Amino acid sequence: MHRKVPAWFGPEAVGKGTAHSGNLANGLPVLISAVRDLNRTELAGESVRAALEALAVAAPSWLAAVIDIAEFADRYGPRVDGWTMPSSKTKRERLAQVFGQDALALCRAAWSDTAPVWIREIEAVALLRQVLVQTYTVRVDARGRDVVSKRDADNDGVPPGSTRLASPYDPDARWSAKGDDLFWCGYKIHLTETCHAPAEAEAEAYLRVPAPNLITDVHTTDATVPDVKATEPIQKNLTEREVKPAEHYLDSDYPSADLITAAAGQGITMVTPLLADHSPQAKAAEGFGKSAFQIGWKARQVRCPEGSTSIGWYPVTQHGRDAIVIDFARADCRPCPSRTKCTNSVRGTRMLTLRPRELHERTAAARAEQNTESWRTKYALRAGVEGTVNQALDLTGIRRARYRGLPKVRVQHAFSATALNVVRLDAWWTTDPLRKPRTSRLERLSYRLAG
Ligand code: SF4
Repeated sequence: MHRKVPAWFGPEAVGKGTAHSGNLANGLPVLISAVRDLNRTELAGESVRAALEALAVAAPSWLAAVIDIAEFADRYGPRVDGWTMPSSKTKRERLAQVFGQDALALCRAAWSDTAPVWIREIEAVALLRQVLVQTYTVRVDARGRDVVSKRDADNDGVPPGSTRLASPYDPDARWSAKGDDLFWCGYKIHLTETCHAPAEAEAEAYLRVPAPNLITDVHTTDATVPDVKATEPIQKNLTEREVKPAEHYLDSDYPSADLITAAAGQGITMVTPLLADHSPQAKAAEGFGKSAFQIGWKARQVRCPEGSTSIGWYPVTQHGRDAIVIDFARADCRPCPSRTKCTNSVRGTRMLTLRPRELHERTAAARAEQNTESWRTKYALRAGVEGTVNQALDLTGIRRARYRGLPKVRVQHAFSATALNVVRLDAWWTTDPLRKPRTSRLERLSYRLAG
């Protein structure tokens, strides 16, 4: 039986931003890559092995001329595995050093003037070079010999997680952590789906089967990209696809004052909990947080709860963002009876950092609104996306990447989302709301006996 598609369902309705055409977005952080987890020593050895495997096929004669094939085959024939490494710490460190020396020898040969340029353009060789640089330091000793040592995080430094390779077989997979006990190597996916308010669901009740929420965007990144960095690209994609939401429901990892303001400029209201004022006073839930000060934007002055006015108003750039730093006079703060509630600075004066006026006012209004019961009731709508996340895990096995590399993993996720939409539409279209409920065997027996 064909069912009429409700108005909120089509792109026209969502694009126009009808009252209930909200969208949901939520991170599904743990997406494990399709490759084996490797520690740093395994990564170094396996990277040498991957390059050798590629060169053995692409340039066997060149390879035989630059390394001792028998020796390397003995060391890198089987896969490099921590379980088969020596148990002694000294021997393992020596093995890590050998991996580094082999990687250096191979890279030197590939980048020598006599080597064909295409040798170093083989992906496994290029990745070996990256792993070598990221994992080892090379110095020349007094006798002019190269000394290859594993990088020490404290003394030599290691690259940030966003650039550090995790496997020679998947150049885009990254290690990441969430909380104290969740570590994974792979990706993150952000699912966005349509949603409609309960009142609208009731209006659709004649269908008996509620209309499904459909996934409108899938955004996949490597595991190190913070959720807040996904907000803008997701909204851009939705706008380009003409499914721009009127209201965008997101959890607290996605918003910032800048993003909320920019989205509002495009007609998108972000319904999301903003992190609270993180000044020490606000965190301690006592004393004078920012909201206790009266800000005179035109006069460029701030009045404190004790009635003193600021003496400095300095527009600055902090961490690449515009801000205004305000300070108060020592003569006012030092003798102030409320000083302990206001500041613990050694100078004894209070300083405030504000965002520009529009951002400040929008943030203050959002924080005030999110403390109301009506906002909490409205925000409860976002919880529906958790069911979508679970359905994606159960039905499409989205937790583990089936392919290597971000472009292919993105394709997998796009297909998974499409499959979920088809499953939902099929369930909705093929369920007959007018069908009588199934009569149980017990009921049939009861009719027979009664008849
Ligand atoms: S410490 Fe300074 S800024 Fe704070 S309430 Fe007292 S006078 Fe005002």
